[in-house]
Amino acid sequence: MSIPPGKILACVNGVIGPAEHATVSVLDRGHVFGDGIYEVVRVDKGRLHGMDRHWRRLDRSLRALQMPAVDLNLLRSQVEATLAASGHTDATIYLQVTRGTAPRAHAFPADTPANTLILVQHFPDDKAHLREKGAGVITHPDLRWARCDIKSINLLGSVLAAEAAKRAGCVEAVLIREDGVVTECAHSSLFAVVDGVLRTHPLDPRILPGITREIVLELAADLGIPCRQKALRSDELRGVDELFLTSTTSRVLPLVELDGKPVGNGKPGPVTCSLRDAFTAWEKADALKTPSSNALNAGEL
Ligand code: PLP
Repeated sequence: MSIPPGKILACVNGVIGPAEHATVSVLDRGHVFGDGIYEVVRVDKGRLHGMDRHWRRLDRSLRALQMPAVDLNLLRSQVEATLAASGHTDATIYLQVTRGTAPRAHAFPADTPANTLILVQHFPDDKAHLREKGAGVITHPDLRWARCDIKSINLLGSVLAAEAAKRAGCVEAVLIREDGVVTECAHSSLFAVVDGVLRTHPLDPRILPGITREIVLELAADLGIPCRQKALRSDELRGVDELFLTSTTSRVLPLVELDGKPVGNGKPGPVTCSLRDAFTAWEKADALKTPSSNALNAGEL
């Protein structure tokens, strides 16, 4: 099976078929409670980027929410089979696990297996030009819950912020808590450069431990860029020298406008550009590794 670029291929509990014909029960707990977790992995020329890190985070989310046991090796083989069946080489893989199908009641159902969903979709990378020239963002209240470190499918706070950004003609929304702490973006991690020091929110329950964030911090250390994992406050945000976001789909994206005003001199800054380029080099090096490096190593979880 090979599907046209516009079509999405689904794998529901191991059964592969076109997404428009795939079904889950209306009693799926993901559907009625948002009781599930997910991952998004980017496939570049047939290679799944950072897969070992994504498996680790998926496993962490499953444990944090005491989800039913999931055979991650089976899931991995289903991811590979669905990707192969799609025929796509540049794609995103959406991977979701919910607490299964059961009559609606808030507390966990007994003896209920998880439901798994894999979606493979062509990914054209339409942000390449923005990685060169930079993009605009708005600020938005952080309306999310107290466990943003879990990659839960409950995304209403992010959905509302992303919609506000879209209406403002921006790529993202920078989220600010009621106490003035800048956390991250609706669907990306956030970095700033202040007086030559890279700043980002520390890992805690207020932010998602982004895979791209983790890699960028490793690259910054390699490049000798001083880094402080300390949250910015909203009043500091206006005066930063550089700003950029990171995510699996956007990679390292310079931010040159904040609420309609230029960030720094309104152009991608030098620290941002060196990290963006180092990330591109990291991806190239990662792609040269043998495909088996994507394999799920139980010992790594
Ligand atoms: N922060 C949030 C809230 C996200 O939803 C995402 C991605 O979905 C990220 C950060 C970036 O994470 P990653 O680099 O793992 O894609």
